[in-house]
Amino acid sequence: MYDANNVFAKILRGEIPCNKIYEDEKVLAFYDINPKAKIHALVITKGMYANFQDFLEHSSDKEITDFFRAIVHVVNILGLKEDGYRIVMNTGKNSGQEVPHLHAHILGGEVLPTDSL
Ligand code: AMP
Repeated sequence: MYDANNVFAKILRGEIPCNKIYEDEKVLAFYDINPKAKIHALVITKGMYANFQDFLEHSSDKEITDFFRAIVHVVNILGLKEDGYRIVMNTGKNSGQEVPHLHAHILGGEVLPTDSL
């Protein structure tokens, strides 16, 4: 199910660069190359999961907790806590997921449109 040729796997292997925000042994966070908001970051797991569904079905409780705590840590680094933000995890074909490696989008820094929600 997991395809190790995806762009985020290449970033994790150091084959292509990223604009890094945060890294620990479990996750890597970096700025989206095509931002959809004033602040647009991505948080990815170092574990090889294709998306949210794959992650929740095949990871440990600790991995899930670590991932969500890392997202909040990145939110705090970005200074988005007070004014709020949006988390998006596109999952599968109908969501428009482009990169088949688990990632959370963090969008903020401005008032976000609500027309698609
Ligand atoms: P998704 O549609 O949820 O799979 O989102 C994939 C996101 O990855 C898109 O917002 C892209 O702009 C972003 N992206 C693709 N390649 C890169 C890259 N090399 N560095 C940073 N972001 C990227």
